[in-house]
Amino acid sequence: MTSRITRLAVASVATAVATLGVTVANPGPASAAMTICYNTSQAPSYASIANQAASIWNNATTNLTLSANCGSNLRIYQITGGGSYAVRTSLGNGRVYIDTRQAQQYSPLRIMTHEIGHILGLPDNYNGNCAILMSGGSAGTSCTNPYPSSAEANRVSNLFAGTRSATERATDGTGSQVFRDSWPAVPAAVG
Ligand SMILES: [Zn+2]
Repeated sequence: MTSRITRLAVASVATAVATLGVTVANPGPASAAMTICYNTSQAPSYASIANQAASIWNNATTNLTLSANCGSNLRIYQITGGGSYAVRTSLGNGRVYIDTRQAQQYSPLRIMTHEIGHILGLPDNYNGNCAILMSGGSAGTSCTNPYPSSAEANRVSNLFAGTRSATERATDGTGSQVFRDSWPAVPAAVG
């Protein structure tokens, strides 16, 4: 009798573990918001700017949370010359490079939120409209708007909703991509 109870108890534990294993391995489409951990250890001059940009994106969107000091989905670097750019390895993952010279011409916060926008799935949209974050440098150096438009923010929220099919994810332009030349060099003043 004792051994039968023991066998039942062991079987119950095994079932519970198996159930937990399935739950962890296969999160459903309605899983919790994605946490995008960003790391500014290689961009000490822009850590505060990155925190501001993260707050802007967190306030404007749903289904994702940018968070500092929890990992490295997004590594942020500061470079000198060559232009600011973003390298997206997959939706919510990649690297952002902030050109310190360019950040003296254009608003560094607008550059940061724009480049993070690429990591969050947005393409460039060079229409010169300062109200559009992804218009980047096409809006000129006087444009300091760091906020995504409602359309841009909604697009990001939808991309992270977890409701897209595998086919949609593979064909909607949110995969691996490098985004350069968002911020054209400003011609030297004449005279
Ligand atoms: Zn861009």
